[in-house]
Amino acid sequence: MAPPNVPGLLVKGRRAVFLDRDGCINSMVYLPDFGLVDSPQNPDQFQLLPGVAESIRSIKAMGFLAVVVSNQPGIAKGKSTPALVEQVTQTMHRQLAEGGAAVDAVYYCLHHPEAVAPEYRLTCACRKPQPGLLLQAADDLGIDLGASFMVGDGLTDVQAGNAAGCSTIFLGVHRCDVYEVMARQNARPDYFSADLRAVAEILREHVSDQPTFTTPAKKAYHVHFS
Ligand SMILES: [Mg+2]
Ligand SMILES: [Zn+2]
Repeated sequence: MAPPNVPGLLVKGRRAVFLDRDGCINSMVYLPDFGLVDSPQNPDQFQLLPGVAESIRSIKAMGFLAVVVSNQPGIAKGKSTPALVEQVTQTMHRQLAEGGAAVDAVYYCLHHPEAVAPEYRLTCACRKPQPGLLLQAADDLGIDLGASFMVGDGLTDVQAGNAAGCSTIFLGVHRCDVYEVMARQNARPDYFSADLRAVAEILREHVSDQPTFTTPAKKAYHVHFS
């Protein structure tokens, strides 16, 4: 719920770290039969990446909400079911809890424009790079998007974060070809980070201790594009 709007008192929203799920919180799954990597479609395939529970604990200790925002078109594509998606989500919660961590909310886009299942066949406003999941979470939880961060390993994560007015952290390597693709796609992140552990370090170094802020200091990790 949003904070109450008290006349004469400037109430800012809470700040959040929006987390992509697959490739950010958990590893991708290699499917040898298809020769490709995919999101985990059943609980047995779900495994947290190293240091994730600890990193989410750190993020929350700094006063951020931790909110998962993830495209999950598996049902739409006929690869999964609502029950399996729920079981994977519960597995994520359980593995995080085993590491003493918890996320505050999970938002999925289940749509796909070419879904085989007609009820999910939709060009929606919530499938990243659209910012709908972040906007919905901000509305539900009273989040100040300008004081918040979007973290993910895809260009669409950066695009969704930018569109929502968040600062963006791209999980990945600093290769020039990545920069070029980003520049072409107008998906320029504010920060690069190797993994979620490094994200916690970025936030620790660059976020003030104030409960709200609008202009995060950007120093060592800030990538400038000309
Ligand atoms: Mg991802
Ligand atoms: Zn959607």
